[in-house]
Amino acid sequence: MLATALLDAAKARGFAAETTALDMGYDTEAIHAGCEARDSRPIIPLKQTPGVKRGDHRPPECEHGTWTFAGSDPARGASKWRCPTGECKPGSRWIKADRLHPLVPRETKRWKALYRGRGSVEREFGRLKNEWALLPLRVRGIERVRLHADLTILAKLACALARGAPLAAGP
Ligand SMILES: [Zn+2]
Repeated sequence: MLATALLDAAKARGFAAETTALDMGYDTEAIHAGCEARDSRPIIPLKQTPGVKRGDHRPPECEHGTWTFAGSDPARGASKWRCPTGECKPGSRWIKADRLHPLVPRETKRWKALYRGRGSVEREFGRLKNEWALLPLRVRGIERVRLHADLTILAKLACALARGAPLAAGP
């Protein structure tokens, strides 16, 4: 599938993508598992599947309230959740990672910040298309289109370097 193929291509070029932000259309078990198998945390909004409507994605609850996120262990492939008052015995438990329970939970600030980062990439593609002539294609064939895209991005990067500006805003 395209998402994991891109992760493999990035890795082959020496980039380790610690997280993978994708839109809701990619919220499938296979893509979540594919990202995790490549040691990249999926950051994908929840699709309203029957399980979600049932509330299967919600944190555990007890008489003391809703359990809180207490960190994830990628090696273990699970996130840890705690009884809000610590009165339950045991007071915490591990939940195996899947699309309903990703290692970076959707309710965390980190998840929200990472997903916002996806928006900034989309805006950059927009600028490349509209202001840097990525969009008007006057060539045909993947090789020529690839060259057109490479030259567009190269021109933009060269201008950024000339200005001494950072090439990309940090998250
Ligand atoms: Zn409790």
